[in-house]
Amino acid sequence: SIIFYPLLSLLFGLGAFWLTGRAASPQQEFRRALDKQEFIPYLQPVVTGDDAHWSGCEVLMRWQHPRQGMIAPDRFIPMAEECGLIVPMTRSLMQQVRGQFAGRVHTLPKGFHFGFNISAGHCKDLSLVEDCRDFIDAFKANPIKLVLELTERELIVADETTDRLFAELHALGVFIAIDDFGTGHSSLAYLQAFQVDFLKIDKSFVGMIGSDALSSHIVENVIDLATRLELQLVAEGVENEVQAAYLREHKVAFQQGYLYGRPMPMKAFIEQLSA
Ligand code: C2E
Ligand code: CA
Ligand code: CA
Ligand code: CA
Repeated sequence: SIIFYPLLSLLFGLGAFWLTGRAASPQQEFRRALDKQEFIPYLQPVVTGDDAHWSGCEVLMRWQHPRQGMIAPDRFIPMAEECGLIVPMTRSLMQQVRGQFAGRVHTLPKGFHFGFNISAGHCKDLSLVEDCRDFIDAFKANPIKLVLELTERELIVADETTDRLFAELHALGVFIAIDDFGTGHSSLAYLQAFQVDFLKIDKSFVGMIGSDALSSHIVENVIDLATRLELQLVAEGVENEVQAAYLREHKVAFQQGYLYGRPMPMKAFIEQLSA
């Protein structure tokens, strides 16, 4: 499968353990890394479409590995999900962000939002509600918006547990975003069932802007569809001024991409935010 190769290469990396005679399963290695707080948040700014000021950020996980250096999420998230450790890993990320910002709530712009990526499997676990409550409560003195990003690539199957989970999240005031919008198969019923607030247009569509006529037509249709659904739009992967201007013209509410800032450690993010 597509994810198999990166998983294998990571497994070979973990092989150092086996070579030294201390056998560690991938699960034990994730446990160890979790205890050592090697899974850390990188933050990328999300800016307003009209005047490009920082209105929020997306939290992206990195594995700061003692021997392999910084590992990108695509290389370890699928395996973390398989090992059943994505829930505590995400919790650790939320705690770290909370710990860093809770003491400086008044330096945050009003209504600043924090977006976390949530795996489909995570939506079967009601502990997510408590984690979100703890996060929101830490910012009582200057309320933030907590956004959970669910990818359209793995649709969530609604059942009693998810119904309850989303009802409780909604009551808490948590916002839901559909990530990678346009690449999957979510229907209007799906978007309604999960009371979606934001759609994040996948970067593959943003990358088409300014290329041939057919591609531009596809992007326009995705924007049209989202606008008609009356959902707030976020365009991801914005890399140049041509794309930015096009998205502004089409009234896309938020933009995110290297043009405005790369994912960065929390300290650097805070420095740039207050600069
Ligand atoms: P995503 O949620 O679609 O995140 C956006 C990805 O696009 C990030 O890659 C980001 O660094 C990258 N990106 C941002 N701006 C640009 C741009 O202008 N151009 C290009 N080419 N890329 C841009 P990253 O950080 O490597 O994350 C990859 C994926 O890993 C994420 O895709 C998300 O699906 C997953 N992921 C990351 N952190 C977490 C997490 O905490 N939990 C879960 N479950 N998944 C995560
Ligand atoms: Ca995302
Ligand atoms: Ca995305
Ligand atoms: Ca993606």
